[in-house]
Amino acid sequence: MAKRFHTVLGPIVWLAAALARLEAEPQASLATQSAPESPSTAGAAREKSSLPSVGTARLGTERKLAERVSPERAQRHVRKLVELGPRMGGTRSGDEAAAWSAEVLRAAGLDVRVVEDPEKDAYQPLAWKAVATNAASGERFELGRAWPWTGSPDGSGTLELTLESRAGAAWLTDKLARGPSNAALVLVDGAVNIDGEHPVVGSLRGRATQPCLGLARTEGAKLREWLAAGARVEIEFEVRGEARRAKPKTVVARLRSRAADAPKPDEWSRDHVLFCAHGDSDSGGPGANDNASGVATLIEIASAWQAALDAGEFPAPPCEIRFAIWGSEIFSTQEHLAKRIPSEGECLGVLNYDQAGFGSGADQLNLEPDDLPANVALIAQLLAVLRDHAPETAEKPGLFPAHWATNRSLGGTDSYVFSKSEYFRTKLRPSVTVFASAWGAPAEHRRTADMPGESWRERDKVSVDYDAYYHSSGDTPANTTDKEPWNMAWCSRVGMLGAARYVEALAAAKPKVEAK
Ligand SMILES: [Zn+2]
Repeated sequence: MAKRFHTVLGPIVWLAAALARLEAEPQASLATQSAPESPSTAGAAREKSSLPSVGTARLGTERKLAERVSPERAQRHVRKLVELGPRMGGTRSGDEAAAWSAEVLRAAGLDVRVVEDPEKDAYQPLAWKAVATNAASGERFELGRAWPWTGSPDGSGTLELTLESRAGAAWLTDKLARGPSNAALVLVDGAVNIDGEHPVVGSLRGRATQPCLGLARTEGAKLREWLAAGARVEIEFEVRGEARRAKPKTVVARLRSRAADAPKPDEWSRDHVLFCAHGDSDSGGPGANDNASGVATLIEIASAWQAALDAGEFPAPPCEIRFAIWGSEIFSTQEHLAKRIPSEGECLGVLNYDQAGFGSGADQLNLEPDDLPANVALIAQLLAVLRDHAPETAEKPGLFPAHWATNRSLGGTDSYVFSKSEYFRTKLRPSVTVFASAWGAPAEHRRTADMPGESWRERDKVSVDYDAYYHSSGDTPANTTDKEPWNMAWCSRVGMLGAARYVEALAAAKPKVEAK
């Protein structure tokens, strides 16, 4: 306990200093601030400052709300979404996922609408299999980890396997060469996840006329071994998918504010904080962690918060709280920003969830990005929640994580659509992503000056956990969210309580938020 207290305190002071400077110079860039004090020189000055705090009564109410978040329910929601298919925007599984999410949110008591984004190319693999036979030995080997590349034309048959692109053959290659091939089927065994056990789902982008299946490196190795021994190898395969132009469906829901007058069902004009997550699987694979976990996290926040409001256990927020499950990552987000902010009310901040369910290397929660001045006040509230509800020990997962970190801008997720916009930049509105892992390999980044970095140790670097199944056919519930369901619950609780404090602080600072 003492150790944790010591290591957490230092970062709090850097942040407090950043906050103070921000207040004095709202347009200041944190990136240009001086470097943080070294642990040895920080000394007593640190102990004078702290993150924003709330009273003990509020902590009890928050804890009750946090307990309403269910990791088991989040787990079930991820399994359900993955069962529907890859859920890419505009595909039938995308439509089914949007309809299902909307129904779950409606059943939880929220006001929900489903909006259509502009038409785009959509592809969903519907059925596929590939079995190899060694003609010399008669041995059969099912390529069980194979996954069709996005945009694969349909095809089926039994073909001879070759290591060159040859007319009518099944071509085994470590990467798909540019330019046309006259092979009848392409098997790619070099585009794989970090341990080579699963193919990363690639995209053909209209450049191939034959179906293409990604294979695990281990599967490719076995086929190569057979060929090297001089055997004739045959591939029996089938790939069926659906390609179409269609409109991704984005689910938008809201919790009522404490304003005396309720909005009419079709009136979306109030100031709000937005929680969001992309509803598609990102790569076109199963997408359990990326990003059914984000959707399940969002549903937990909405359901828990609504239930607590209905039970009178938690004060209604001073502004509307909205939720968006994007039909298509970035694409739907840009559409929302262009069409609905601010015409459907001022957006006071965004909390985005992406890869909220699993990390291969550590049990930590990250907040990103911490190098935008607009994000500092919201991050401070999130950190205060983490500090106030931190478990006594890191040994076993509790309601909240024992380890957390803030890291610099890494890009690649929906929160940046907002951060980069003129509206968010000029109005200094925060847009923060809360996550358990990012990308597919372990990474460390320099700590942002004046920001806390890691909660559990003091250094100039920040670790960002990874997902070994990132964008691959291995991103299944069994490999990810079922192993660590508590991550989704942590991300839900921290974001929900942090946002609740943030909107109260805004209302206290600017009473007009409440009055509107
Ligand atoms: Zn993602």
